[in-house]
Amino acid sequence: MSVKDNILAIKRQLPKGVELVAVSKFHPAVVVMQAYDAGQRIFGENRAQELASKAPQLPSDIRWHFIGHLQTNKVRQVVPHAAMIESVDSVRLLQLINKEALRIGRVIDVLLQLHVAQEEAKSGFAVEELLTALTLGEMNGLEGVRIRGLMAMASLTDDQAQIDREFSIVENTFNAVKEEFYPEDRFFDQISMGMSDDWPIAVKHGSTLVRIGTAIFGEREY
Ligand SMILES: *Cc1c(COP(=O)(O)O)cnc(C)c1O
Repeated sequence: MSVKDNILAIKRQLPKGVELVAVSKFHPAVVVMQAYDAGQRIFGENRAQELASKAPQLPSDIRWHFIGHLQTNKVRQVVPHAAMIESVDSVRLLQLINKEALRIGRVIDVLLQLHVAQEEAKSGFAVEELLTALTLGEMNGLEGVRIRGLMAMASLTDDQAQIDREFSIVENTFNAVKEEFYPEDRFFDQISMGMSDDWPIAVKHGSTLVRIGTAIFGEREY
């Protein structure tokens, strides 16, 4: 199957309202173009340097989503290129993104990353930590960012019930946060979850953005 066939096959299975983020990390611009030529416009990258070098080589109507852990000293590299930063895992990072966006005169869409997986190495807010920050108003008044919703990764496991539980925590947290903190905000409407092996479960739990790499481009060579 070609990159194009893979994209068309996945898109056919996605319900209306769920968008595909093609995760192109570690794949060169020529491979990204195969997906682009199949009509794909949203791509995901997880390293600042890779995004900054790839984006200028590729068509300007691509919407780049930054999906990796973002170190504060790399914010400057990412903000000019990213349509959305999905992996905001601290208030400090959000503030720095805000500051940089204002400095270059733009507003950037962001998602708040929730930590629901078993692996400690994965980043993100714990549910309680996120609710506390929101209650304290720590994410208010940042004119350079638009908080669009939540992002999460499930544990790397074959245990479908475990993945199901984790995605349902994200879904419930999204609904609670929406109701409590963003009831009138029509832009707080995105849940990014689901990767090559678990996206059907994520969609069942209300995902609006699935981030798929391997099932489109094949295995990555690190
Ligand atoms: C690499 C990556 C993906 C895509 O994973 P695949 O298993 O290749 O589909 C999705 N989300 C994040 C945050 C990633 O780093």
